[in-house]
Amino acid sequence: MKALCWVGTNHLNVERVPDPEILNPKDAIVRVVLSSVCGSDLHLIDGYVPSMREGDIIGHEFMGEVVEVGPEVKKLKRGDRVVVASVVGCGGCWFCDHGSWSLCDNGNAHASIAEKAYGYSPGGIFGYSHAFGGYAGSHAEYIRVPFADNGMFKIPDGVSDESAVFVSDGFPTGFMAADMCNIQPGDIVAVWGAGGVGQMAIRSAFLLGASRVIAIDRFPERLAMARIQGKAETLNYEEVDILEALKEMTGGRGPDHCIDAVGQEADTPGALHYYDLVKQQLKIETDRPHVLRQAILACRKGGTLSIVGVYGGYIDKLPMGAAMNKALTFRMGQMHAQKYIPRLLEHVQRGDVDPAYLLTHRWPLERGQEGYQMFKHKTDECMRVVFAP
Ligand code: NAD
Ligand code: ZN
Repeated sequence: MKALCWVGTNHLNVERVPDPEILNPKDAIVRVVLSSVCGSDLHLIDGYVPSMREGDIIGHEFMGEVVEVGPEVKKLKRGDRVVVASVVGCGGCWFCDHGSWSLCDNGNAHASIAEKAYGYSPGGIFGYSHAFGGYAGSHAEYIRVPFADNGMFKIPDGVSDESAVFVSDGFPTGFMAADMCNIQPGDIVAVWGAGGVGQMAIRSAFLLGASRVIAIDRFPERLAMARIQGKAETLNYEEVDILEALKEMTGGRGPDHCIDAVGQEADTPGALHYYDLVKQQLKIETDRPHVLRQAILACRKGGTLSIVGVYGGYIDKLPMGAAMNKALTFRMGQMHAQKYIPRLLEHVQRGDVDPAYLLTHRWPLERGQEGYQMFKHKTDECMRVVFAP
């Protein structure tokens, strides 16, 4: 089959690879219909995620059609149209039992790599390095789905492929970001990053009862989408002082909850950006935590910092004193897709949110390298490129 493979930093290639096969009785094989780029893939492409190997198939946000099931797959069958959770969870361990699917004890086939770095290993993620399981990703004609009864969800009638694909990853991530804030009626939520994840965090914050959402980014078309589709107020961090503006917009108190939907490759105007970039390139610091720093200072006393932007390793100059003395609550994590997908499919079916507007470019897999370069540099008003293998 055809697959989009990681070759090295900033280098992808469409290659012919062997078709996937059922390896375990709980596996299924899915023919990929749509597979989207995600901000997490940029960390692979930019070379910030160790344990990538030449030839690894990337991609984790996808939907398709079941073509084969192992003997222990009971809930779904050949021919079903499914959206697949981007994280791999066994459904039987303590963590899955507690709804913490991305922390599954059995989802990461290469747990020892992550254990060395993190103490304990999180679960697996499709197409996301060997430290996260070494699973082949979805930018391919077919994919093997382990623990298929837990990871695959039948797409209800009336929900299009273009809507369902984002229920795999971007929508549940944004939803979990808002859910972790424990939003109370009247609360104001600030969201850093107006990419696909940030856009879904905005919608989810309103679904969960926020009275106002303030979105922060620098790309005018992304801020416009946040305003028009998300009904958010927006701030361009290249134009205003974010701390001052947030203080003013919240009556001097600060937002109740601050969501980081940017992560380790944050951009910063001015010299600080180069400080972090140089340290990152010298591997003194692995991540650029500018948004974390800003969100800690911006957040109201006693507020929540909800982090879904991905961090990989070590950061520098985190204002921990501000966080401690302002009594902030930190919540974070790779999202628990399996916990949220059924509920989000209902929201989509009812028409509360239709994430299909994130799809700005629909391309064949052959244009993978070009698609990722466009997504990385945010040219042509690209929000998400979706490949149709
Ligand atoms: P994206 O690249 O489309 O969007 C990121 C946005 O952040 C861009 O619009 C960029 O302009 C903006 N940004 C950069 N620096 C900023 C700053 N200083 N202030 C405000 N905005 C800034 O990516 P995405 O697909 O929306 O993903 C966002 C993050 O979420 C990534 O780190 C990704 O890895 C992560 N993610 C996490 C999970 C999870 O399970 N936790 C799942 C999916 C994605
Ligand atoms: Zn993702």
